[in-house]
Amino acid sequence: MPPKFQTAPRPHVVAIIGPPNSGKSTLFNRLTGLRQKVANFPGVTVEQHVGRAKMDDHSEVILVDLPGVYSLNPRSEDEQVTRDVLNGQMKDVPKPDSVLLILDSTNLGRHLMLAAPILSLKLPTLVILNMADDLRNRGGQVDTAELAGQLGAPVALISAAKGEGIDKVIQFMKGTAAGTSSLAPPKVELPVLQDIPRCRQWAHQVGLGAAYQAPTPPLWTRRLDSVFLHPIAGPLIFLIVVGAVFQTIFRGAKPLMDELQAFIHSSGPWVGSALPPGIFRSLLIDGIWNGVGNVIVFLPQILLLFLFIGILEDSGYLARAALIADRTMAKFGLQGKSFIPLISAYACAVPAIMATRTIESKRDRLATILIAPLMTCSARLPVYLLVIGAFIKDRPFLGPLLGTQAAALLGLYALGFIAAILTARLLKSSILKSERTPFMLEMPPYRMPTLRSLGLRLFERSKVFLRRAGTVILTTAVILWILANLPLHNGQPPDIADSYAGMVGHAIEPVIKPLGFNWKIGIGLLTSMAARETIISTLGTIYKMEGSSESVGLRQALQNDLTPGGAVALLIFFAFAMQCMSTIAVVRRETGGWKWPAIQFAYMTLLAFVCALITNQVVRSGLFT
Ligand code: GDP
Repeated sequence: MPPKFQTAPRPHVVAIIGPPNSGKSTLFNRLTGLRQKVANFPGVTVEQHVGRAKMDDHSEVILVDLPGVYSLNPRSEDEQVTRDVLNGQMKDVPKPDSVLLILDSTNLGRHLMLAAPILSLKLPTLVILNMADDLRNRGGQVDTAELAGQLGAPVALISAAKGEGIDKVIQFMKGTAAGTSSLAPPKVELPVLQDIPRCRQWAHQVGLGAAYQAPTPPLWTRRLDSVFLHPIAGPLIFLIVVGAVFQTIFRGAKPLMDELQAFIHSSGPWVGSALPPGIFRSLLIDGIWNGVGNVIVFLPQILLLFLFIGILEDSGYLARAALIADRTMAKFGLQGKSFIPLISAYACAVPAIMATRTIESKRDRLATILIAPLMTCSARLPVYLLVIGAFIKDRPFLGPLLGTQAAALLGLYALGFIAAILTARLLKSSILKSERTPFMLEMPPYRMPTLRSLGLRLFERSKVFLRRAGTVILTTAVILWILANLPLHNGQPPDIADSYAGMVGHAIEPVIKPLGFNWKIGIGLLTSMAARETIISTLGTIYKMEGSSESVGLRQALQNDLTPGGAVALLIFFAFAMQCMSTIAVVRRETGGWKWPAIQFAYMTLLAFVCALITNQVVRSGLFT
């Protein structure tokens, strides 16, 4: 074995490329496990996943997962980036030494088209036909040896999800890394690339040559589609599914959440007792433990939501939901391609806004960017849960299936969606008018979601959530604690009402009083500009320092502090307001200036203010009691 210092002059770089949904991430995750990170390509908004894969001889290669593309004609930013990386023209990204081209074997007719431009780059390439399990089960066939002959490149039939055939991929990478594989140049002629019809014809011929037999859509996929895509039953089932998800978020996560809450409550004094009373103990317990802990309590619910989204997406149902929604979206001037970014905005507007780059029409893209923050992101969820939990009694609403709390939550999600599409309608019928493009989204067959893929999703989500709690929310909590403890009176911290934080809160109180908010909520609105869920840690700290949550807990303290009108107004305010620095920053970057984020911020704040004002006045007037 050679001594360590002689090895690895420059790591071997392998690019994974393929059309969307061909299984790139599944393969990438299988090869790299948790040894991966996500970053943006320099200068552009396209994300790259980079990871290290261990070979069986303990050597390592660097894997770069490129965005999903159907061609290398640079129509979208994704295609441009993929092309630049493969040509070694992307700054700070080394030119790949070899390529894993991954195609869906159940959809080769379409996917083989991508092989032409990739193989003509003349990089050592392994053509991976993924979903072997699915192809087999549905009676499809392909002669891989014949296909390899036609393409002049090795071909491996694998199942990334099941782990079948992965050894062939590893052997290929090992071979190219060691420089021992001798590959003849691929046989694809260059003129084929320029021309999509010729590319298609070429792919068709290669498929025929390799005796490719596309699988029949499974009987049950067709059966399920006849129900899920039914003009009446389809939307109805969609609503029932969504309702059940929300109900479970409340009921299912509650025991876990209660336990977490109890733990954080009881452990605070316990940790505190190890410290001498005084300023440090107060910072640790009132500022940090209480502040951040109050937010972390919501992790079970957030994970449960993402578990459901993961199941819906991986099973293939979400694509059907997109199709159902497309019929509605068309009425508002939006196209189907906007639906996927909008769905991902349920997690967070930042990646959603980045995902709009696949929309070729500039106007449609801008419209989607402008409405994305109205979709209910996961940072709103803790706020909704807290306020609903405090102010709405849980009673059966639509039979036993949907309780009032779940219905209220569902209503808030619907409200964000309705505000988004109405805003889209407004934009698309005025300043952003354009022609409609037809809906193009592949309907994948229904598949059983794998535990592995779901587990990784939840792991990613927990990381994002806990990172926010540990950075933005923690910093804001500490700053708030300092402002709440100054100026000193005879060396003692003041009452919270007389502190700097209290002064700021009182200064804005006249403006927000008509909405039913007092100065404490005012401070929360200000800190929530950093991240929405920070309002919870802020209120937690304020009530704790006031002494009002000492015995009763945050929920009860909030009940004592807000009127019902103010509580509903607070929910409405959070549904519409653009309280998120990261979103503002990403909109500025994506639109190339401050104009659009400024307009968006003004619009959303005004909408939030006016709607919250009306809500509070209406509830107060007793119209609904
Ligand atoms: P990407 O868009 O190319 O990154 O594709 P993903 O890795 O997200 O995979 C798309 C879907 O196909 C996911 O639901 C995967 O679980 C599923 N999938 C991936 N590989 C296989 C496979 O080998 N067999 C089957 N049956 N499903 C797979």
